[in-house]
Amino acid sequence: MREFGPTIFAEMTGLAVKTGAINLGQGFPDEDGPAAMLNVATEAILSGRNQYAPGIGVPELRQAISEHAKETQGLSYDPDTEVLVTVGATEAIAAAVLALVEPGDEVIVFEPYYDSYPAAIALAGGTRRAVPLRPVDGRFTFDPADLRAGPNTRAIIVNSPHNPTGTVFTPAELETIAAFCRDHDLIAITDEVYEHLTFDGVPHVSLATLPGMRERTVRVSSAGKSFSVTGWKTGWICSTPELVTAVTAVKQFLTFTSAVPWQLGVAHALRHELGWVNDLRGSLEAKRDRLSAGLAEAGFEVLKTAGTYFVQTDIRPLGLTDGLDLARRLPELAGVVAIPTQVFYDHAETGRHYVRFAFCKRDEVIDEAVGRLTSRR
Ligand code: PMP
Ligand code: GLN
Repeated sequence: MREFGPTIFAEMTGLAVKTGAINLGQGFPDEDGPAAMLNVATEAILSGRNQYAPGIGVPELRQAISEHAKETQGLSYDPDTEVLVTVGATEAIAAAVLALVEPGDEVIVFEPYYDSYPAAIALAGGTRRAVPLRPVDGRFTFDPADLRAGPNTRAIIVNSPHNPTGTVFTPAELETIAAFCRDHDLIAITDEVYEHLTFDGVPHVSLATLPGMRERTVRVSSAGKSFSVTGWKTGWICSTPELVTAVTAVKQFLTFTSAVPWQLGVAHALRHELGWVNDLRGSLEAKRDRLSAGLAEAGFEVLKTAGTYFVQTDIRPLGLTDGLDLARRLPELAGVVAIPTQVFYDHAETGRHYVRFAFCKRDEVIDEAVGRLTSRR
């Protein structure tokens, strides 16, 4: 694991703490999730729900996850054999990769990628092949010709809505990926943590809904983003009994089981707080517009974001070329922290001039950050 130092999120949040800069780097909201959900978790602690849950998760949450998948994607999963609760999506992804990837197997990822994917693949002894996402008319997408598999290709990790580009794959893009999986007999691990956070009426479609995909897809999601509780680290997978059994075998030796009070809070939220999530989605859409307009005012080229917490900017109109260099200097220069996108590439050169900003913040925080950036233009 020597190639993996402290993550960019740790480095940049460390800089924010040290300099007192506004943190538009690491994606976490600065307002709490639904009050009733917080109360359910508090009540769970006070009423003695404080001992180990069954390894696969408390029945209340598995049932709620199953109903939520049916309601939002029309997908049926048996709560007893096809759902596994995990410590965030991060454990779900790591356990899935460790379970399904053998040493020497190749895993395809889209770059820029979420940083835990290459680490999980390395832990499993696998290799990765990165398929680039590039802006076309301001929106990041891939060239189907870049989707290539070799004899050792085993799986593909598909993150939509996509961090860090904000792209939400269209049904046509998903069908291209699905056909590729079917043709090469690949397993898809889908990272759907931003499933509820899409804008402008763009729907989130799970890859598992496409023909022939449910049986080869490990769906991963998490409560962190949907309910503004990134610190609860409560996630899950849904898949076939065979695949869930394999991932459970790994999970039991990573963490054995997940914390109980959060599971009960999330079970409540999945059942009763989708209206709250809808309001969150509307509020984030307005924040995206607010930050995008401000960044454009400050001289960045702002790319299109249809989902997530993030917008990508191109720093070349500012006369700059290296996003990592800028991100390291920005806290001192302007009192703002952002994330250099190049660290999420195998081919860092392709992403050198992109910087990611998070808009999941109160309006006054966004305005203050924009004011600082504009005055330093
Ligand atoms: N996948 C993506 C794309 C993410 O942005 C994040 C960060 N929230 C995660 C996975 C990890 O989620 P969790 O905090 O639930 O482990
Ligand atoms: N998902 C969060 C982001 O992309 C970061 C999570 C982390 O700190 N690893 O900003």
